[in-house]
Amino acid sequence: MMTTRARLRKCLGCGLEFPKSSLLRIVRSTAGEVSVDPSGRAPGRGAYLCANADCVMKARKKNTLARVLKRPVDTEIYARIDEMIRSDCGDD
Ligand SMILES: [Zn+2]
Repeated sequence: MMTTRARLRKCLGCGLEFPKSSLLRIVRSTAGEVSVDPSGRAPGRGAYLCANADCVMKARKKNTLARVLKRPVDTEIYARIDEMIRSDCGDD
């Protein structure tokens, strides 16, 4: 019997898989709007990043997020992601 596990999703930055709940979801709504989805439940196409500033930076530099979502991603979105990551893990 297979046990039901948390679904794994790949971080766009490091390429490692994490349980969906521990990743930050960025969603492109059916209307084509890109936003950060803290609930992880917004409808639309999702992209995932782990709570690591390096991963965000990588995804931003390589434009991975925009490629996956097939939409340009505003600096505002990245600012929001940064904010969420920082509030999530605080200082090391
Ligand atoms: Zn990562």
